[in-house]
Amino acid sequence: MNKSLVVNNKIYIETYGCQMNVADSETVAGIMDLNDYEIALTIDGADVIIINTCSVRENAEKKIWNRLDFIKSIKRKNKNIVVGIIGCMAQRIGVKMLEHPVVDFVAGPDAYRDLPELINNSYLNKKYCNTDFNIKETYSGITQKKQSNEDISGFIAITRGCDNFCSYCIVPYTRGRERSADYNDIISEVKKLKQNNFKELTLLGQNVNSYYFEDNKNKVNFPSLIEMVAITAPEIRIRFTTSHPKDLSDELIDVIARNKNICNHIHLPVQSGSNKILERMNRKYTREWYLNRINVIKSKIPDIGLSSDIFCGFSGETEDDFQQTLNLMEDVCYDMAYMFKYSERPGTFAAKSLCDDVPEDVKKERLNRMIHLQNKISLKKNKADIGKTFEVLVEGFSKRSDNMLFGRTEQNKVVVFPCLNKKRGDTVMVKIKEASSATLKGDIINS
Ligand code: SF4
Repeated sequence: MNKSLVVNNKIYIETYGCQMNVADSETVAGIMDLNDYEIALTIDGADVIIINTCSVRENAEKKIWNRLDFIKSIKRKNKNIVVGIIGCMAQRIGVKMLEHPVVDFVAGPDAYRDLPELINNSYLNKKYCNTDFNIKETYSGITQKKQSNEDISGFIAITRGCDNFCSYCIVPYTRGRERSADYNDIISEVKKLKQNNFKELTLLGQNVNSYYFEDNKNKVNFPSLIEMVAITAPEIRIRFTTSHPKDLSDELIDVIARNKNICNHIHLPVQSGSNKILERMNRKYTREWYLNRINVIKSKIPDIGLSSDIFCGFSGETEDDFQQTLNLMEDVCYDMAYMFKYSERPGTFAAKSLCDDVPEDVKKERLNRMIHLQNKISLKKNKADIGKTFEVLVEGFSKRSDNMLFGRTEQNKVVVFPCLNKKRGDTVMVKIKEASSATLKGDIINS
């Protein structure tokens, strides 16, 4: 079948996975916009469908295979539609994804400048895959294009790739070597968000703390970069993720403490509380180092919000190792945590060299204990906020009621309150009167 060249270039970008992919999809939208494509907000009527994928766990990839089955039905009705797979799954599976009947092209995270060419080739019935890594690629000069008009939160990727090679992680193999974006590009993105009246921005990277860029004028590490951003846009809330405990410096903690618009929230993945397991994970820090970082943070920023990533059931984890994880959670008292059971990823060091020896039912049972403990801790922490007043950035209407709005405190806690004619993007002061393990409830004061 010879596909006729498309008449209008409506492109729909569907994003899965982490905030890094959200930022990448905006970069892709920027590249396509430069090539006269129109960014569609829905899949209906799109000429080109791009799926930005995640590969961090098996379930993430299963979702994509299911989605491709759905898109098969759309393509049956319109044979001219072009479908492309990008992101981490595209990089991990590569050219083999072209065997799927729906897929016309595949592009890895360093190949997005090649997308217009890949799409053109698809119209000529040529299926291509570009998963070349490019250590220099930070998409400098590409303006991220928002996917919706009413955005209040912006995401800026300050680093790409990762050099840490945690033994369970696929990211270094799907996103390549670590590189930092030019701080001048980052500051110009910040200024664009400011001009467009954004209220919040998040600096993104697999490990933002190892950001480093030097030119003939400046040597910029992460603490100096985030302070530069805070000073450039004092009216915008600044967030950052993800931090690696081994690189979290006192210098950064001081910068957060002295800049009012840098949110008092740190997401600091610990993964495990056992030194034996941390070593098998190649995390490059000990429980003692991690707890020291937490204590320094708490001493310098008493109202800090803390969250983490923790998983159980990694290779060789005994009940005693697991107890050390629970014990660390009680020591730190996180406000919130993302918790998982270990899922082996093909291609990682762990998959090649470490035995996935913790039985599935034991993994599940430990995960339930972890979630139960964290819910207890979160409830206790949230109950301690009753009677306090927080500045909240309104994000929208509560799922449960059109009379209620929701937003986040700078500690990244979700708050629900009666709307009082306020709207998305407003900043309000809310006095807390109720709390559950996931949500705070309150009333707007001084509206
Ligand atoms: S720091 Fe470790 S877990 Fe995080 S992306 Fe890099 S390799 Fe993966």
